[in-house]
Amino acid sequence: MRNIVKSYDGKKESGRAVDGLDLEIPKGEFVALLGPSGCGKTTTLMMLAGLLKPTSGEIFFGDRMVNHVEPKDRNIGMVFQSYALYPHLTVRDNIAFPLRERKIPKAQAYERAKEMGRILQIDHLLDRKPSQLSGGQQQRVAMARALAKDPEILLLDEPMSNLDARLKLDVRDEIRKLQRQLGVTTIIVTHDQEEALAISDRVAILNGGKIQQYAPPEELFNHPVNLFVASFLGNPPMNLIAGKIEQRDGVQMIVTQGFSYTLPETRKLDVKHSGKQVHLGVRPHDITLTHAADKLGIPMKVDLIEHLGSGKLVKVVDPGNKLEGMIRFLVDNESDVHSGDIVHIRFRDDKFHVFDSTENGLN
Ligand code: ATP
Repeated sequence: MRNIVKSYDGKKESGRAVDGLDLEIPKGEFVALLGPSGCGKTTTLMMLAGLLKPTSGEIFFGDRMVNHVEPKDRNIGMVFQSYALYPHLTVRDNIAFPLRERKIPKAQAYERAKEMGRILQIDHLLDRKPSQLSGGQQQRVAMARALAKDPEILLLDEPMSNLDARLKLDVRDEIRKLQRQLGVTTIIVTHDQEEALAISDRVAILNGGKIQQYAPPEELFNHPVNLFVASFLGNPPMNLIAGKIEQRDGVQMIVTQGFSYTLPETRKLDVKHSGKQVHLGVRPHDITLTHAADKLGIPMKVDLIEHLGSGKLVKVVDPGNKLEGMIRFLVDNESDVHSGDIVHIRFRDDKFHVFDSTENGLN
């Protein structure tokens, strides 16, 4: 996709659902479009499918510009959130439908339906109607139908949102395995970050119709490029503390409402950033407890402790009540921390982030 803009009212300058999207998806990769409601994910997918026309910009499949190619000629397979199966047709006829549309003889289309049924393990259901299937089975039929014509690109629009939590995990693994096996370029739209990170080679994070970051899951998580990506990804979320960069006697620190955090020698920022309003970002599992004697430890008062099963989530507040909000961190189950305790916390030197409060990350 090259500089794709979509505004539903046709005006180029206002109300853009998609706002200048550049995205290159390598052949055979699995890519997720992830972002909050209304960020433009579905609009983007619909433009790839040819069901919506971009207001401007170009879409290429390989070297072929497809802006003016009809959906049926794009060689895509699509699975919708609702599955959109034909209720009056059997599973066999549903899977064979796109082939029959292409004038492939019935016997051959049925043979392919049988083969897809085998791959997706629904071959015993071929004579049933969609209403006689469970949600998970319907999902497989929709996948089989999308893949029957051996598409160049598979488009998935929230394909797992109607499945229960347990089934979702199984289906997620199956989709990923199948995609690897077939090597089909796949684009999934989801607002479920865990799903996107688990299943994809790369994730494009969208907000306000713009790509915020496009990278493999690990990189997104470890090196978010801006405040939006940092706050959007991660559960429990990254702690983000507002402050200002100050330079004092050769020491660089981030001065927040509640404490001053001295940046370690290895993580010092360019002096040109002095005076900037920033957010100090640190993930809950990158905060450790330290002794009161540690000069870099920050005293905090334990407000709440949540049991997560695998460990405890500790929420602490500034004992002086100057710092807004709380800081969250994780400790193991054996940790002897109690509500009301004063603890000293430390941020892992190699793991904290500094974001410009208005734009991108500084390190
Ligand atoms: P969700 O996760 O809620 O499905 P999304 O990221 O898929 O959201 P889109 O459906 O692409 O978002 O919508 C992007 C923007 O375009 C939203 O502001 C939405 O209100 C607007 N929009 C979507 N469809 C139309 C339409 N047919 N006419 C006008 N505006 C639309």
